[in-house]
Amino acid sequence: CSKTSTVPRCVSDGADTAQRREVSVFVRIRPTANFAHGLIECLPDGKLQDSKKGQLSSWSFRLEGVLQDVSQEEVYARVCQPVVQGALDGYNGTVMCFGQTGAGKTYTMTGSTESYKQRGIIPRALQEVFREVEKRTEHSISVHLSYLEIYNETLVDLLSPLQDSPQRPPRGMVVMEEPGRGVFIRDLSLHPVHSEEAALSLLFEGEMNRIIGSHAMNRNSSRSHCIFTLHIESRSQILSDAKYIASKLNLVDLAGSERLGKTGSEGQILKEATYINKSLSFLEQAILALADHRRDHVPFRQTKLTHALKDSLGGNCNTVLVANVYGEAAHIEETLSTLRFASRMKCVRSDPAVNEHIDPALQIRKLQKEVQMLKEELSI
Ligand code: ADP
Ligand code: MG
Repeated sequence: CSKTSTVPRCVSDGADTAQRREVSVFVRIRPTANFAHGLIECLPDGKLQDSKKGQLSSWSFRLEGVLQDVSQEEVYARVCQPVVQGALDGYNGTVMCFGQTGAGKTYTMTGSTESYKQRGIIPRALQEVFREVEKRTEHSISVHLSYLEIYNETLVDLLSPLQDSPQRPPRGMVVMEEPGRGVFIRDLSLHPVHSEEAALSLLFEGEMNRIIGSHAMNRNSSRSHCIFTLHIESRSQILSDAKYIASKLNLVDLAGSERLGKTGSEGQILKEATYINKSLSFLEQAILALADHRRDHVPFRQTKLTHALKDSLGGNCNTVLVANVYGEAAHIEETLSTLRFASRMKCVRSDPAVNEHIDPALQIRKLQKEVQMLKEELSI
């Protein structure tokens, strides 16, 4: 069958504001020129259809929207822009790409260097953040970046590649949790950035380290999970105001979700398959428990991935999932498995709140000033 997609674009568009009550889920269908094996179609009533061999089977999934034949610019505007605006207002945010290898996760998250138009979510988010920093003159906004890779349950700092060299002993990065601070990675390097250019060059450095690292270990870079994080702090320019807001924006490119058969695999391939299957299975279990509103009983600590993302899967976070799928019906089994995961994610609640903190030094200065004023009043 060579049926082509007649009704692309979106199903039901939910609230596009930063303060959502449910995790938002989009499916992005990778364009294809291969019509020989049928295509995945998106119908206006929210159904995805497989037009394989002239037979039409259809499945319904609850999603925010379907991104088919849409530009990188539109993907950014619909998927990420509200989350970036929320992060600048003090709400944690996470945008995550999930799907089988080759379906377009890295293209969606980082984009292609072939043309400016093909920039992905991360460079566009950096551009928007620094534009807003210039615009919001009543606030002093600071931005720090970190870039973490999780490969075979090992944490790798993509912005500090020397950590494992003989000159410097491994720094033992660990996922930690502290009240008031939430989840963080001990010893992951944080880099202050003051401009879009500086941020882009760090992103580029991280990407290069990801490629160099995977070549050095003779592995495919899609075998690891990557978390690029913007740590944003915003303080009022009024010096007496001790309050400030702080947020984290996580941009996550997950490892390929296809179930890798263990039979016939050995050595490194088998080890990778085991780790990826384990981390993605625990991610699915965490999502199931969260969708059931059992946040207190979620086994987040079972893998580095779920532990590192504990704060980022719904809860106090604007969370958006992009499920990347192939356009060809030949991949229908993996596509359905990706969409089942995505529709479970849609049931997870998100209750973001502004992360407000008090700067103790400023608070003390403010109180000292008040005491001074009271003393002066009493002595009159
Ligand atoms: P993944 O990270 O999921 O393994 P990639 O993002 O690396 O997949 O995509 C595989 C290939 O397909 C890349 O060459 C990428 O440029 C291309 N590609 C993916 N999605 C799109 C798209 N929406 N438009 C154009 N090319 C795409
Ligand atoms: Mg990839």
